Amino acid sequence: MSTLAVNGGKPIRTKLFPAYNTITDAEKKAALEVLDSGNLSQFLGCWMDDFFGGPKVREFEEKWSAMFGAKHTVSVNSNTSGLFAAVGAAGLGPGDEIIVSPYTMSASAICALVYGAVPVFADIQPDIFTLDPKSIEKCITPRTKAIMVVHIFGHPADMDPIMDIARKHNLIVIEDCAQAPLTTYKGRMVGTIGHIGVFSLNYHKHIHTGEGGMVTTNSDELAEKIQLIRNHGETSLKDKGMKDFTNMWGFNYRLTEVQAAIGITQMDRLEHYIAERIDNCEYMADKLAQFAGIIPPVVYDNCRHVYYQQPFTYDEKLVGVPRNLFISAVSAELPSAELRESTGNLIGAGYVEPLYLQPLYQTRLGTKCSFNCPRYEGDVSYNKGICPVAEDMHYKKLFTHEYMRPPMTRADLDDVVHAFEKVYEHRFELLD
Ligand SMILES: *Cc1c(COP(=O)(O)O)cnc(C)c1O
Repeated sequence: MSTLAVNGGKPIRTKLFPAYNTITDAEKKAALEVLDSGNLSQFLGCWMDDFFGGPKVREFEEKWSAMFGAKHTVSVNSNTSGLFAAVGAAGLGPGDEIIVSPYTMSASAICALVYGAVPVFADIQPDIFTLDPKSIEKCITPRTKAIMVVHIFGHPADMDPIMDIARKHNLIVIEDCAQAPLTTYKGRMVGTIGHIGVFSLNYHKHIHTGEGGMVTTNSDELAEKIQLIRNHGETSLKDKGMKDFTNMWGFNYRLTEVQAAIGITQMDRLEHYIAERIDNCEYMADKLAQFAGIIPPVVYDNCRHVYYQQPFTYDEKLVGVPRNLFISAVSAELPSAELRESTGNLIGAGYVEPLYLQPLYQTRLGTKCSFNCPRYEGDVSYNKGICPVAEDMHYKKLFTHEYMRPPMTRADLDDVVHAFEKVYEHRFELLD
């Protein structure tokens, strides 16, 4: 018990944590019904009834609109496709800038490049890790056309000041809600506060269809454009009588009937999964707060955090050892989880490297458009240091875990707490 596992001691636990598996008999039955029907996708890429897909796709979209309080939902085959469609529908093109968070999954920024636009990285808030309105304001230029807000880890970004800025400068706001289904901000559902919301249904998210995504909007015009981009829009323009052709060439971002049937079924348990995650995270916050320098996340008043991950901040001065050493030592005390063995442990230091530090932005190779476009008149910087808070969080302060996933029990969570306890008690041995 006394020797740390990183130093060759016996770990706190070796039995894998239970799998987070949202595929139940109900999903199997729903998928089989679709297979029996023989109709795996009814989409056709021309202007007719089947332009909108088959019965399950439409049912899924309607159910999503009702649950998420959106006028329209357009299903797509991934959140990434949804972000591409959102940026296309927003009308962005070469020479335009979109303000994005650097502390997110890469697709939140790459969607700009698809249309030749330029991602401009604003810094994040140190308390909730989402775009900082003050930093957004400093990034605005005559070329700014949109803001990509990411509700990272499942806590909402501070939308009121962000929407104020958007109104003042006439900007489209796209919300990347991949990690934030049923997250609320001051009583409002994210994905309907900005102009477009994009959700993910990939294997790692709260609920999933293997791959998939949902795009929400209250705008008839944006919904129509997103539908065209999803399904070979160029072939429907004439018959639809479209007037604005900007970016109205389409891709194939269509979801299948089996995926939709699986998604419809899981939606019935989404609220339950989230409630359990919140309960587990509150328990973990309470238990880990006893260690000076391990600081649980804040949740803003009248907001709901749905905990895709639970982010903590780490104060190296208070703990006395660097974060990476400490978190590696905790991780060494614990096993992975069933179904997720290949992805390693459910705890990690930092999240993703601030995006502008990726080779694509550092070398500026890989595209002749976007920041390399001759029509681009700005001088966007991707230099180290442009987002000091994101860098500080990533390299020194933040760590996240995913131990809140159902069906983790109190006994499972207590193993995690004991790992923290053991490492905390023996932390100075990490310095030897
Ligand atoms: C998962 C994720 C995506 C990408 O989702 P896909 O459905 O895999 O394309 C984008 N943004 C964020 C914040 C994510 O977590």
